[in-house]
Amino acid sequence: MATTKVPEVRDITRIERIGAHSHIRGLGLDDALEPRQVSQGMVGQLASRRAAGVILEMIKDGHIAGRAVLIAGQPGTGKTAIAMAMAGSEIFSLEMSKTESLSQAFRKAIGVRIKEETEIIEGEVVEIQIDRPATGTGAKVGKLTLKTTEMETIYDLGNKMIDSLSKEKVQAGDVITIDKATGKISKLGRSFTRARDYDAMGAQTQFVQCPEGELQKRKEVVHTVSLHEIDVINSRTQGFLALFSGDTGEIKAEVREQINAKVCEWREEGKAEIIPGVLFIDEVHMLDMECFSFLNRALESDLSPVLIMATNRGITRIRGTNYQSPHGIPIDLLDRLLIIATSPYTEKETRQILKIRCEEEDVELSDEAHTVLTRIGMETSLRYAIQLISTAGLVCRKRKGTEVQVEDIKRVYSLFLDEARSSQYMKEYQDSFLFNETQAPTMDTS
Ligand code: ATP
Repeated sequence: MATTKVPEVRDITRIERIGAHSHIRGLGLDDALEPRQVSQGMVGQLASRRAAGVILEMIKDGHIAGRAVLIAGQPGTGKTAIAMAMAGSEIFSLEMSKTESLSQAFRKAIGVRIKEETEIIEGEVVEIQIDRPATGTGAKVGKLTLKTTEMETIYDLGNKMIDSLSKEKVQAGDVITIDKATGKISKLGRSFTRARDYDAMGAQTQFVQCPEGELQKRKEVVHTVSLHEIDVINSRTQGFLALFSGDTGEIKAEVREQINAKVCEWREEGKAEIIPGVLFIDEVHMLDMECFSFLNRALESDLSPVLIMATNRGITRIRGTNYQSPHGIPIDLLDRLLIIATSPYTEKETRQILKIRCEEEDVELSDEAHTVLTRIGMETSLRYAIQLISTAGLVCRKRKGTEVQVEDIKRVYSLFLDEARSSQYMKEYQDSFLFNETQAPTMDTS
């Protein structure tokens, strides 16, 4: 029987997410990690913001390896906002197995800072001697005499250096630089341009005066890439171009293991530094047992990002099982989480959040309209009230007004249903909807 593959993991609509939280600039804490009532776009929710701040400090000090954070609370109580303030990246992709997308998301959230150190010697060429042995093996041998500020040094030229010499058309009298690690020779002037190029890429260039009197330049070029990018570049089937198309497909477990081993080796040799990022998984109760086991294992790994999850569920069934548990999360995973709770907002806080959102969306609101919108926020949901801002703004502009009035709010309130009115509507008109599960048993056609 032919089956159609139904992708289980949906693309997260990044734009909408970023838009909804664009006013959040940080946790709004002071130096002592105390939350300010209104700061950096954040209003109220003091206890959880403080807890988030403490966790952020622990993350900075590298103290929460192997643990993860769960933000739990009613809908619209700012869980996502708090996670965003703690920094986040959420990446899921279509048409891949669930754990593959999780793997990729995990690895995208880990940066690897790779250091390359080379020693560069600068001096004036005194003499170049190149001999080509008659045997015709293609091998070239030669010597280069280079005068640095205080002494003359003779270098044995390897093939690389000879190639580099002829490419740069080096002659006696030229001032050149030699990169000891790669054997690359550059005529001066050009090598300086290179140094600037590197700077433009955000790398660091350092010049050090050496005690022996030789002028040496120590260049440290630092590249930061994500583990996922290293995976893609090294996965034979994909090639690095996949990074641009985003079409990376599944990456073999062996590739990842080899890369982990290599990165750990670099780290031990001081060539690379691991920078764990923050991975945010919203609506975490939507994951199933397979994903939770994956998370449990992934958190054990040395190469794990800081994981922040959010949920608005209470005790509920764990997907893929018949068991119930708090937040629909298996107890063993729950046990290793630091849990932050969020609570509903007061009227004053709701009013303040709505005001900040209006400023963010460039919508002027009259005092009465603000009061009505706050009432709507309290009685329906904060998110619904926030959504009314831009629509009311539009209605106001349409009638060539400059300030949203109560009338505009009323208009959009009647145009767009909130969750409660929408459910009510469904109940009243359920018989008219297709595939309605509450309908009476279907007619027997046998
Ligand atoms: P859900 O459980 O439905 O996912 P949530 O708890 O993640 O909800 P958010 O999406 O963070 O809720 O909040 C809804 C809206 O209110 C967002 O636009 C968010 O930025 C804003 N908001 C929530 N809390 C605050 C706050 N304390 N300060 C400023 N804005 C907030």
